[in-house]
Amino acid sequence: MSNILVTGGAGYIGSHTVHQLLERGYNVTVLDDLSTGFRDAVPEARLHICSLFDTEQVTQLLVRQQIDAVVHFAAFIAVGESTKDPEKYFTNNVAGSLSLFSAMAAAEVKKIVFSSTAAVYGNPVSTPIPETAAIAPVNPYGETKATVERVLAWLDQCRGLRSVRLRYFNACGANPEAGLSERHVPETHLIPLLLKAVVTGQPMTIFGTDYPTPDGTCIRDYIHVDDLAKAHIAAIDHLLAGGASEVFNVGTGRGFSVREVLAAVEAVTGKPVPHVFGDRREGDPAELVADSSQLRNRLGWTPEYTELERIVASAWPSEQRRWA
Ligand code: UDP
Repeated sequence: MSNILVTGGAGYIGSHTVHQLLERGYNVTVLDDLSTGFRDAVPEARLHICSLFDTEQVTQLLVRQQIDAVVHFAAFIAVGESTKDPEKYFTNNVAGSLSLFSAMAAAEVKKIVFSSTAAVYGNPVSTPIPETAAIAPVNPYGETKATVERVLAWLDQCRGLRSVRLRYFNACGANPEAGLSERHVPETHLIPLLLKAVVTGQPMTIFGTDYPTPDGTCIRDYIHVDDLAKAHIAAIDHLLAGGASEVFNVGTGRGFSVREVLAAVEAVTGKPVPHVFGDRREGDPAELVADSSQLRNRLGWTPEYTELERIVASAWPSEQRRWA
């Protein structure tokens, strides 16, 4: 079986992907500096605590483990923080990736799956958004991901580095059977915050009710973390089979408003969500929904979690413990 290095494997999407890779028999090595990841999210023996910036050590790890392909999650992901401290984001997400790519060049590893984001599209002119839509990020976080995507396109041309760049929409849910969950600090994502409000009784804020959508709240494409993980496996298999570089959106293709997500949380928990209505959050487009037909048609991927209630139900046990 192939040897896969997962950077950022102790994080939310990384740990769910590591779990699926192991289940499918891949030999997995995790590289994480534990700056935002959790030691207990991955099997201890697989974890190498190391900075992406230590090009020499990363090169040695790639060589020693005879890595065939890399899945690169390690990055900072908070949009708001990226607007306050852009240097931190460009350094970590762009320079950190360049260090990894240099190590891969030195170790002659020529396949990579890269975590990108719908944030590369900024405020799209229409939805669902195809991969051919304009790249026009509206915050430094999105710009770091768009930059690394462009670097990867050049590394394909100049060095034959094959990459699949996956543009995630709204990652959510958890895998309770595997003991995995979302644990961002601070938490900024909608579903965990709705569940937190249920547990604590403290109201959460709905950011904006005057958007040009049917109920006035923002519409997003909520994609379960296990479906995201499955997209990474499909991308790895594509590259290991000698496939060319590709860019794919990862979303269900269906949008839900904030009010609809709130209703799903109330249905699953059987409790009202204490909430207040606030101003719009800066930089939030009204509607972001993926056209994921490329990933479906080309790699045979289909999402299993298409109902909000199932997504929320998968997150509920861990969120109950988290906020109790
Ligand atoms: N949202 C909200 N209140 C919150 C957090 C999020 O109303 O406390 C809204 C946010 O404005 C967006 C949607 O929920 O329309 C999803 O936001 P999230 O931060 O989960 O993901 P993003 O879309 O920023 O990637």
